[in-house]
Amino acid sequence: MSDDSPTVRELDEATVERIAAGEVVTRPARAVAELVENALDAGAERVDVTVDGDGTDRIRVADDGHGMSRADAVSAVDPHTTSKIRAADDLRGATTLGFRGEALAAIADAGRLELVTNDGGAVGTRVTVADGEKIVDDAGRARGTTVVVTDLFGDRPARRESLASPAREFGRVSELVTAYALARPEVAFSLTHDGRETTSTPGTGTRDALVALYGRETGGESTAVTHRAGVDLAGREAALTVEGRLCYPSTTRATRDHVHVAVNGRPVRDDDLRRAVARGYGSLLPSGRDPVAVLRLDVPAWAVDPNVHPAKARVAIRGGDTVGDAVEAGVREALTTADLRRAGEVAMDLDSSLAPVEASESDFADATVLGVFRDLYVLCEAGDDLLVVDQHAAHERVNFERLRAALADEAVPAAALDPAETVTLDPPTAAAVEEHREELARLGFAVDPFGGTTYRVTQVPAPLGRVADAEALRGVATDLRESSGRGGADALRDDLLADLACHPSLKAGDALDRETATRLVERLGECERPYACPHGRPTVLSLEASTLADGFERH
Ligand code: ADP
Ligand code: MG
Repeated sequence: MSDDSPTVRELDEATVERIAAGEVVTRPARAVAELVENALDAGAERVDVTVDGDGTDRIRVADDGHGMSRADAVSAVDPHTTSKIRAADDLRGATTLGFRGEALAAIADAGRLELVTNDGGAVGTRVTVADGEKIVDDAGRARGTTVVVTDLFGDRPARRESLASPAREFGRVSELVTAYALARPEVAFSLTHDGRETTSTPGTGTRDALVALYGRETGGESTAVTHRAGVDLAGREAALTVEGRLCYPSTTRATRDHVHVAVNGRPVRDDDLRRAVARGYGSLLPSGRDPVAVLRLDVPAWAVDPNVHPAKARVAIRGGDTVGDAVEAGVREALTTADLRRAGEVAMDLDSSLAPVEASESDFADATVLGVFRDLYVLCEAGDDLLVVDQHAAHERVNFERLRAALADEAVPAAALDPAETVTLDPPTAAAVEEHREELARLGFAVDPFGGTTYRVTQVPAPLGRVADAEALRGVATDLRESSGRGGADALRDDLLADLACHPSLKAGDALDRETATRLVERLGECERPYACPHGRPTVLSLEASTLADGFERH
């Protein structure tokens, strides 16, 4: 017998009276709910539900939980027996899904019940209850429990009369399994109706469960929410966790039924919490529409009374408004970053579609300029791609390559500074100037010490008439310091040219007419390395038409 299988006891009368009154099993879906809750309470990782017809014919729930010893299995089907609470005081804050100790007995009363269970021993137990008679015998079964209910309401014609169509009754079972599967995404669920599996979740988390239940388009287009808050629940400090997944508002529903909320692992139909979720979506939702979302709330057990509804479909949370506010905040926060993340995904697509483009494939030649966006970006059509060219970065690249070609192996032309200017450097940079004076001269600088770490600059580089200013010394000397030993003079020269290329280049924000923009794109196409500015930033991003199609969900 395993240690983790708890002992089933009979509750005392006072506790029985405190338990919310009401018939437990009013329709097949209620029986399914109770059996699924028992499976989850038993720590199941798999729950398989099978329903025939409207459920009155046959319901079967099998789990791989901790099972029951023979003695417990025999008493579990008696009224008011439970392993989950001992006294009325345990009712508030019960952490198990079941706690009333009446489900199995009520089901056995309303139909024919067969329970096969094994808590890890060599032989399992079968308990059959029919017409108030209990039969117990051996049964082969792996650890876990299977409950089969047949002929539900067989002797209660009024109950049978009150049932809706089989499709509708099965619909309720299906909604219920969906709710538990989303409340417990780490548990694998399956639902089979008349021999056909209609639903199954892999037990590998909320996203997979959502995809399994709602399809890839809805479930996959979702973002995670995790929100922790310390809240004041009716005067007592409580740690609250909100987690789950929010489907993008590109999918909405006409009802709030697809906002799945669970509190401490129990699915609840709580309209206040559902509304709080919708409020968190805010104006992202078209009016009159509700989202598809899964939210699991964890609050301390003392703050929750699960015993306020006969079907346990609602719970009472102390300080419920505060909880609603936290849910709303968590949802809003997650969606704000989700929008960024979605944009980020597109941006990554940009990067990746950019990365493999080699200079040789460069075909700005057949790019047609469509226009200029915000005086920053030139938009071009090139085959199936939309190219976005950063006009400033593109111009830097063009200037840089022109400068470098013009200067080839020559020393950088210089211009005298008259009057000379002084530049004060920090000590390490000053030391670099002293050390690399020769290189500085080749780069076009002439500097004299002027006391301390101050230098008089009498000559500056002036390639192609682009005169650097004295302050450029600071940048070049810093580069010299940082690159001492590496890169060498060529790299430095390139850096200097890059800086110079930058100065007279078009600034982002300069208005370009279409003709200039076209020329810029052509020149960029002629560059050796057109895809990065001399400082290494990208000059062009390309967006494939298919990325747009994905983004707009044109599948
Ligand atoms: P409750 O769930 O409120 O305790 P039930 O009538 O549903 O009452 O179940 C009675 C007891 O039977 C439970 O407390 C539990 O110990 C045991 N039990 C029922 N179903 C299972 C199961 N699937 N696996 C293990 N134990 C179970
Ligand atoms: Mg139960």
